[in-house]
Amino acid sequence: MTEPAGESFAVEQTDVLVVGSGFGGAITAYHLAAGGARVVVLERGPWLRSDEFEHDFMLGSSYTRIFDFVVGDGMALLGGNCVGGGSVVYFAAMPRVPSFVFERKGSIGRRMWPATIDRAALDPWYDRVEQALPVSRNDWNTVTYAGGLFAAACARAGHTANPVPAAVDNTLCTNCNWMMAGCRFDAKRSLLLNYLPGAIANGAEIRPLHEVQRIARTDDGGYRVHYNVIHDDDYRLTNGSGAIDAKIVVLAAGAGATPVILQRSEAELGAMPHAVGRYFSGNGERLNTAVIDEDKARDLLGVSRPDGSAFRANQVGKGPCVASWDRLDGSLPEYSRFSLEQLYFPPGFGTILAQVPGPDGPTWFGPEKKELLRRWQSWLTTFTMSEDDNEGEFGAPPPTGNAFRISQQMLGRGPIRYRPTENTLRGWAESDAQVKEIMERDGLATVLPWSNDVVGAYTVHPLASCRIGDDPATSALDDRHELRGHPGIFVTDGSAVPCALTVNPALTIAALAERAVPGIVRAARQRGVAVSYGASLP
Ligand SMILES: Cc1cc2nc3c(=O)[nH]c(=O)nc-3n(C[C@H](O)[C@H](O)[C@H](O)COP(=O)(O)OP(=O)(O)OC[C@H]3O[C@@H](n4cnc5c(N)ncnc54)[C@H](O)[C@@H]3O)c2cc1C
Repeated sequence: MTEPAGESFAVEQTDVLVVGSGFGGAITAYHLAAGGARVVVLERGPWLRSDEFEHDFMLGSSYTRIFDFVVGDGMALLGGNCVGGGSVVYFAAMPRVPSFVFERKGSIGRRMWPATIDRAALDPWYDRVEQALPVSRNDWNTVTYAGGLFAAACARAGHTANPVPAAVDNTLCTNCNWMMAGCRFDAKRSLLLNYLPGAIANGAEIRPLHEVQRIARTDDGGYRVHYNVIHDDDYRLTNGSGAIDAKIVVLAAGAGATPVILQRSEAELGAMPHAVGRYFSGNGERLNTAVIDEDKARDLLGVSRPDGSAFRANQVGKGPCVASWDRLDGSLPEYSRFSLEQLYFPPGFGTILAQVPGPDGPTWFGPEKKELLRRWQSWLTTFTMSEDDNEGEFGAPPPTGNAFRISQQMLGRGPIRYRPTENTLRGWAESDAQVKEIMERDGLATVLPWSNDVVGAYTVHPLASCRIGDDPATSALDDRHELRGHPGIFVTDGSAVPCALTVNPALTIAALAERAVPGIVRAARQRGVAVSYGASLP
């Protein structure tokens, strides 16, 4: 194999190279290591311990170090950037996907999921992940005040609401509401507490601050993975580079990064399937902020706190605890099904992104915005997850990573382009109307839009940019998650999920990764790796 002149690197050898340590990476790394393979995990972000998760918004605190916020054209993506990936920053809401989602056809006019996967086929894999993390069944005693208020508002408006299953140990949770900065109390069941320590105990090596750039072939039919070492404080800087040869590569860098690595590798690997970097879904997400009238909350819902305020709960609690699933009804037409989840967003993001109506449309400035900020503790944010149209596409990859890094940490400009179709816009409009119907009834709250109308859509659940499917024209991976035309490369992160799920996706990404492992083990054995499948859960 010929390498570019002037580049120097020490080439190591391993059996399996895993890119990214979120759900798709940690789960595959655990099983392959437990089965006896030599496993190296390269993770672009830092590795923080529980006592390093901080409760402030300062630049350089855990808050800015462990996020990746990429602004594209019409779509912004927020994800994790650390060992543990999105599981460290997520809200840990872990519902299963409703059955109708697996039958979705979308704009391609045929079933997007492989024929081998439906809800019944995925249930045993859901069971495993729920046991390993574990996921708790919440009840009304464990939901937060904000969740209770949303449920009461739903009931008044004639809608049902449900406690959401969550990977949170309620015996350890202090309701501090800082779960996005990483949980200091080990109450949030991130991958730092189960699959990753399990992988390490079985000999896997995890290397933080190692950002994979591209993949090439080796003469023996394996792959050479090239990485840069990222500076600990300023992610725009690199501290060198290197390469590792592997018989199997598992790509799990997240749906905003995996297709970019593959696109950049095309010159050396050969043509990519058409669907790499296409069909991106933002999970049909949409945010609305309801500014609660405290008096009305007390009078209409009969709730009050000892200090006389009825709500003012934004500072207390945890992430989403309650969701209304009335519209998760498979008999409704596609694009009109969605869930509404009560959500918490901290003042940093919230106040930057929330808008108020101005004379010429939504605005981020002016006296109304000041009033909105003054009352932020009385906000209740509702989160829509609907059926979008897989209308996102990635442009040419940036020189390194998945985005041009704009600031020292966290912020980048990425190649994603997203123009919501009429189908997506209709779903959002219907969900906006339902949020207003629930929250504005009898003046309980004033609902204000978030950023979608000005800067485009926003997602914390990127999906489908390198998806599984039966049709080679519209899916990049076969139903075993192997990249078409590139045997030995597997993709197990959110990019493999074929479409928007109408609920939070992490449990499904994790279940699909569990399901993919036996096939990856088989492929590794065919390539001479001494590995078996069947380890117990971590
Ligand atoms: C604030 C927030 C709240 C959320 N709440 C929920 C929730 O309540 N429920 C839910 O289901 N989902 C939630 N999510 C979404 C959830 O975190 C993601 O869906 C999930 O983590 C995606 O898993 P993944 O395996 O696709 O990728 P990730 O978990 O994102 O892991 C990808 C990893 O790869 C690393 N990486 C990227 N590029 C490279 C590279 N070039 N080289 C090496 N490493 C790389 C990243 O740093 C990251 O650690 C939330 C997300 C956010 C941001």
